[in-house]
Amino acid sequence: MKTDVLVVGSGCSGLYCALHLPKAKKITVITKSDVESSDSFLAQGGICMLKDESDYETYFNDTLKAGHFENDKKSVEIMIRSSQDVINDLVGYGVRFERDENGNFLFTREGAHSSKRILFHKDITGKEITSKLFAEAKTRDNIEIIEYTSMLDIIEKDGKCVGAVIRTSEGETKCVLCDYTVLATGGIGGLFRHSTNFNHLTGDSLAVAIKHGIELRDIDYIQIHPTTLFTKEDRSFLISESVRGEGAKLYDKTGRRFVNELLPRDILTGKILEQMKKDRTEHVWEDLRTIKREELLRHFPNIIEHCKEQGYDATEECIPVVPAQHYFMGGIKVDYNSKTSMNRLYAVGETACNGVHGKNRLASNSLLESLVFAKRAAKEICKIYEELEKDELELDLSAYENLSALEEDYKKTVLEKIEEAKQKRQNEIKGEE
Ligand SMILES: Cc1cc2nc3c(=O)[nH]c(=O)nc-3n(C[C@H](O)[C@H](O)[C@H](O)COP(=O)(O)OP(=O)(O)OC[C@H]3O[C@@H](n4cnc5c(N)ncnc54)[C@H](O)[C@@H]3O)c2cc1C
Repeated sequence: MKTDVLVVGSGCSGLYCALHLPKAKKITVITKSDVESSDSFLAQGGICMLKDESDYETYFNDTLKAGHFENDKKSVEIMIRSSQDVINDLVGYGVRFERDENGNFLFTREGAHSSKRILFHKDITGKEITSKLFAEAKTRDNIEIIEYTSMLDIIEKDGKCVGAVIRTSEGETKCVLCDYTVLATGGIGGLFRHSTNFNHLTGDSLAVAIKHGIELRDIDYIQIHPTTLFTKEDRSFLISESVRGEGAKLYDKTGRRFVNELLPRDILTGKILEQMKKDRTEHVWEDLRTIKREELLRHFPNIIEHCKEQGYDATEECIPVVPAQHYFMGGIKVDYNSKTSMNRLYAVGETACNGVHGKNRLASNSLLESLVFAKRAAKEICKIYEELEKDELELDLSAYENLSALEEDYKKTVLEKIEEAKQKRQNEIKGEE
């Protein structure tokens, strides 16, 4: 199989990248499940935007503070400065953000933001954005999206990425040869017992990167979300931070408020876990009744509905919440144009790491970061585009036959590498002390 650019993953980063790649080239997007099953569809809270110049410094500092000042400052600057351009694109694709009666954007707030700068669409902002990107991609003759097709490996030749090994929906293993490959495979939640992510997101790009000696960065930086609904569901349901931004409170087992709900995620998670240990409980309580009922129903219909399905009327009673794995700050190391350490290979979205989030992501920066750097990857590919000779390759595909063994091996490889990175960092910190 031959194409010009192969994009692996159909979340917001993969689709937005595809939309900015050369229109004269054939772009193939493959995706492991159906298009709707990406974390991009799950994003609730919203997407940050630089409202005006007066908020630049505070937005920049909030991002750095949340990231424990380990962020790459240039990445942060690029992200913030590009935010209005991205939002203009989205509005152009028909994305609806909440507006006031004069048509001006309405902004909300989440933890660790010192002002309201988050655009939202009810509590289904990710679905609104990604479904419009998908709709736009479907109108483009040069973009083909193939569902239920997984990347099993990349194909390396003379230090360059020249394509990928894929497993089709019919269970066939095939090689795809292309000029450029973009990895957009999202996070790593599928490696954890409790996660807000879809469980088919298992960090496959990382496993492949490890196999090919491609550089990684900060892979021990994994964000735990402080508040997910405590249930027996397969995937932990997120109770968005903007609920706390709008005034929801957290209580211990006696109904006493024990923490500032708007602390950065990692610190708040620590406080909740501490409280659970003290109280010997499996969760704490979140009170949404502090938000006006009409506002709750208008802004958070999806959350209210889901709680109801799980037996809680959040407009009348507290709901049990517990921290769960949520986001991956680390990933495949990329430059400011999302290029990896391998020629002709790019990585965008949650699977990539350009250092923008540092040690901890500021809420609602990830959709933005995914889009900003996906567009930069596409623009860079447009600029440098050079075709490859796509000779037939003689590849032994037998190593890919046993899919479940391969998947287990990939998961193990990634988890071991994360553990190794944790140990290394702890040793470095001890060394400094
Ligand atoms: C519940 C929840 C709420 C969130 N809320 C917000 C929010 O309010 N604001 C915000 O900014 N961020 C939020 N985030 C984070 C944000 O949604 C993600 O970081 C972002 O959507 C990642 O986009 P992506 O394109 O990198 O990955 P995804 O959208 O996860 O897409 C990954 C794609 O890769 C495909 N894939 C994976 N492996 C393979 C493979 N081997 N072969 C082929 N395809 C593969 C998947 O099928 C999928 O299509 C939230 C995340 C979750 C889970």
